[in-house]
Amino acid sequence: MELENILSSIPNNISIVAVSKYMSDDRILQLYEQGQRDFGENKIQNLILRKNKFKDLKINWHFIGNLQKNKINHMINLEPFLWQSCVSFEMASEVEKRLKKPLNSLLEINIANEDSKNGISAQNAYETYIKIKNNCKKINLIGIMSIAANCDDNDKIEQNFKMTYDIFKTLKQHGASICSMGMSNDYKIAIEHGSNMVRLGSILH
Ligand SMILES: *Cc1c(COP(=O)(O)O)cnc(C)c1O
Repeated sequence: MELENILSSIPNNISIVAVSKYMSDDRILQLYEQGQRDFGENKIQNLILRKNKFKDLKINWHFIGNLQKNKINHMINLEPFLWQSCVSFEMASEVEKRLKKPLNSLLEINIANEDSKNGISAQNAYETYIKIKNNCKKINLIGIMSIAANCDDNDKIEQNFKMTYDIFKTLKQHGASICSMGMSNDYKIAIEHGSNMVRLGSILH
């Protein structure tokens, strides 16, 4: 779908991250020319390549994928605009140790409770968020990210977004301002339930 058609269906106080993992370089450029500034990649290697390729553009690069321990230094050197996928206190501490300046980050919650997905469990999300806030001063935690169940069951997807938003509400008093939820297949439901950042890949492809 074209960016302008998607934009017209999304309130303008909601950030759109164009997930470029399926996009050609030309498509990234095209979206940039249409005004898109936030892009996300889920693999460090691809983020390195693309950040370098488009270094003359004013792109805010988001890292949204699984971070392996041996890639921590690479991620730090990339200085992402937002690291959306901090999954645990342990991971936050590992990154904290090596950071020289603050890194805007989100805590990823495994809201669908699927083994195949990364993230902290819903039960431990609040406690972990506070623990990272109190102990990792360079991890600038500013919200949460979640991925809903990958299924056709809208009730289940809604329930995942409701749960994420409930956690977000309790964290607002601790400075959380970003609730990143919603992808190509479910962003409309996510927005109905309080998302203020959607991550769109295939629909923009
Ligand atoms: C790939 C990916 C997306 C985008 O998924 P689409 O369904 O293609 O929109 C969003 N978030 C994360 C974490 C991803 O890995």
